[in-house]
Amino acid sequence: NDGDRVPALVIGSGYGGAVAALRLTQAGIDTHMVEMGKSWTTPGSDGKIFCPMLSPDGRSFWLRDRTVQPVSHFSGGSVDKNISRYVGVLDAEDFGGIKVYQGRGVGGGSLVNGGMAVTPKRNYFEEILPGVDSNEMYSTYFPRANAALGVNNIDPAWFESTEYYKFARTGRKTAERSGYTTTFVPNVYDFNYMKQEAAGQVTKSALVSEVIYGNNAGKKSLDKTYLAAASATGKLTISALHVVTSVAPAATGGGYQVVMNQINEQGNTVGTKTVTADKVFFAAGSIGTSKLLVAMKAQGQLANLPGAVGQEWGHNGNVMVGRANHMWDATGAKQSAIPVMGIDNWADTSAPVFAEIAPFPAGTELWVSLYLAIAKNPQRAQFQFNSATGKVGLNWQRSQNQPSIDMAKKLFDKINKKEGTIYRTDLFGPTQTWGDQLTYHPLGGCVLGKATDGYGRLPEYPGLYVMDGSLVPGNVGVNPFVTITALAERNIENIIANDMN
Ligand code: FAD
Repeated sequence: NDGDRVPALVIGSGYGGAVAALRLTQAGIDTHMVEMGKSWTTPGSDGKIFCPMLSPDGRSFWLRDRTVQPVSHFSGGSVDKNISRYVGVLDAEDFGGIKVYQGRGVGGGSLVNGGMAVTPKRNYFEEILPGVDSNEMYSTYFPRANAALGVNNIDPAWFESTEYYKFARTGRKTAERSGYTTTFVPNVYDFNYMKQEAAGQVTKSALVSEVIYGNNAGKKSLDKTYLAAASATGKLTISALHVVTSVAPAATGGGYQVVMNQINEQGNTVGTKTVTADKVFFAAGSIGTSKLLVAMKAQGQLANLPGAVGQEWGHNGNVMVGRANHMWDATGAKQSAIPVMGIDNWADTSAPVFAEIAPFPAGTELWVSLYLAIAKNPQRAQFQFNSATGKVGLNWQRSQNQPSIDMAKKLFDKINKKEGTIYRTDLFGPTQTWGDQLTYHPLGGCVLGKATDGYGRLPEYPGLYVMDGSLVPGNVGVNPFVTITALAERNIENIIANDMN
């Protein structure tokens, strides 16, 4: 409520925020979480909480009149649809040079993501975050994160037999015929539930294409894991549909004054509140945290933040592409929306790529193999405050994704040559082979050990912490949420032990 004072305030309810909330509440600290998206707990008129993937409505996208689907075109035409403006679960935030997809709602990205739960390669983790003790990470914090997230693996025998993973088997076969290594990828989607879906015993979710607009069942998103456990302590309060706009040192009594706008389901501001918090945890995601901190530094509320704030942003080298298979290499009319396999070419210095074999669950046979490649793209961008608009921009240029395209092209050119196949040029624009205008993996902007101390403390401002993907410098080589979760586990343990007396 307006005028309240709280011991700990967490901005954002994604991975970083959920870890902070659980560990703070378990330590007996009353914690208040502020989330701009809604709490996805009430079904719509169709009886479902989230809308269907193939007929999206307002629940799909954050405050838009038309969808911006990642695969935006097919056979020459746009596949986007008009929708009503609503606080939908998936945001496609447009920075000019790139569209950044992010989850909006209590649970953040966990509500919309593919659930791929990948622990990064140890040598690459050590390269990007040399100040972090990797022994500790790989013996304690990665296992802790995987356990709390509910990570599980697909039953290999079921994978080999089910029609729902034919697309992945075709992707594996063509990759292996070109000499590439493939690997199973763990996930937070409950594979026992998925098996029951296939057997017709439970309501289908992944097996009826649900994923990027939310899963109505089966997925262990954060609201079912970390946040449920934090709520069970009785010490967590969550304010959904509240957007934090400012954080500044409190005039009297120490701590920080946090200003937020309350919004309605159409996104209109219906009130403004100011709360004072002894400790503030920034967990608004790489984009949300960076935007807030860069604006606070430029406008003077947190003028002494280091110059490294807003730097070293990257998109994990993301680029998408589709290949047209031969008629005899079908990918299946029925496809699970949950990916479980990747092509691992990271060790090849000429084309360091980890490519997820992505589903294309359109409900009909398309003979398309779709991939989300994570390339070792060294390009980085910065966030900048624009005093004319009062907004924070990101100066990433489309051309900065050329290294990702070049690396992925080496890999898929080889597969196409071996198979005698071609790229699809109709999926990301009327005639566009590479999906290089979007990312699902924003990382960096407030890098650990540079913009913060070694545990996420913001220098000069005791009691301010960064907990989310903005700590990771631009690229982690695999899908990022396990890394974000494990780093948050490591940092919050140190913060609770040293700063919370
Ligand atoms: P987020 O999870 O983004 O959480 C930040 C939260 O803060 C959001 O809920 C946001 O609404 C809120 N917020 C932002 N600003 C404010 C503000 N000013 N006030 C209040 N609240 C605010 N990763 C994987 O590892 N595997 C995958 O399979 C995978 N698939 C993906 C698929 C899609 C479609 C998308 C979009 C992402 C995917 N990702 C995947 C990426 C993963 O979801 C993100 O890396 C992860 O969610 C980032 O965690 P975070 O804690 O940094 O921030």
